[in-house]
Amino acid sequence: MPEGHTIHRYARDQTQLLAGRALRVSSPQGRFADDADRVDGATLESVMGYGKHLFYEWSTGEVGHVHLGLFGKYRVQETDRSPEPIGAVRMRLQTEPDDSRDTYVTVDLSGPTACSIDPPSVRAEILARLGPDPIRRGSKPDRMIARVTRSSRGIGDLLMDQSIVCGVGNVYRAEALFVTGIHPLRPGTDCDVAELEALWATVQGMLRQGVKHGRIITVSREDLGVAPNVRIPRGEATYAYKRDRCLRCGDEIRRIEIANRTCYYCPTDQPF
Ligand SMILES: [Zn+2]
Repeated sequence: MPEGHTIHRYARDQTQLLAGRALRVSSPQGRFADDADRVDGATLESVMGYGKHLFYEWSTGEVGHVHLGLFGKYRVQETDRSPEPIGAVRMRLQTEPDDSRDTYVTVDLSGPTACSIDPPSVRAEILARLGPDPIRRGSKPDRMIARVTRSSRGIGDLLMDQSIVCGVGNVYRAEALFVTGIHPLRPGTDCDVAELEALWATVQGMLRQGVKHGRIITVSREDLGVAPNVRIPRGEATYAYKRDRCLRCGDEIRRIEIANRTCYYCPTDQPF
């Protein structure tokens, strides 16, 4: 499942490509056809990312909602003619050639868990169920900290709960806990406010870096011993996640199942 940085990149890229234009909206596969009809020909005002959700604001006042789930993916094409859909395309957003461009821009979505056009109240209900999203400007950790310090669940479990904090997936969970030196099984009630503020700042920094680079890099170049202009290889971009040995101390990385996903941690840098 994509982590929050990927969702925010989709929102940014699709806003750049499509916002401010009247779009053809369709459902080649058919399952989104009735919803598509309601906004077909309307102007897309913006695309907003929040945690793992995307919201499309339409000039009709309605709001499109997409959650990619495990299998959802986008295909973006710029072509001379309207391309044939590939696979089961649930939603197609398409510009037509006009004075500013002589190509079709097509965004195809297939395999999402959720894809609908709703009144704005539905977005409000979804947002009310979600914790703060650290990528969003002005987001604050207060609600996350209040929930965590009252819970006896382990912090590695709480971090993946989207109602507590949004956008953290399995890689960022392992890496943020490593950097802040917190054992993933430590109960929320045993975490103090200063630690959780540091954890929030770490998660925020990592996710925002992810939006900027379009990939997950959580290690510092000094720790890795890599010069500023050299690309950090895949598999070297983390401290603990999917490593056999800790990048910092060389101890053996441990693996445990938390919230149905394998969590990686260093027993030396993250004592219980
Ligand atoms: Zn270590």
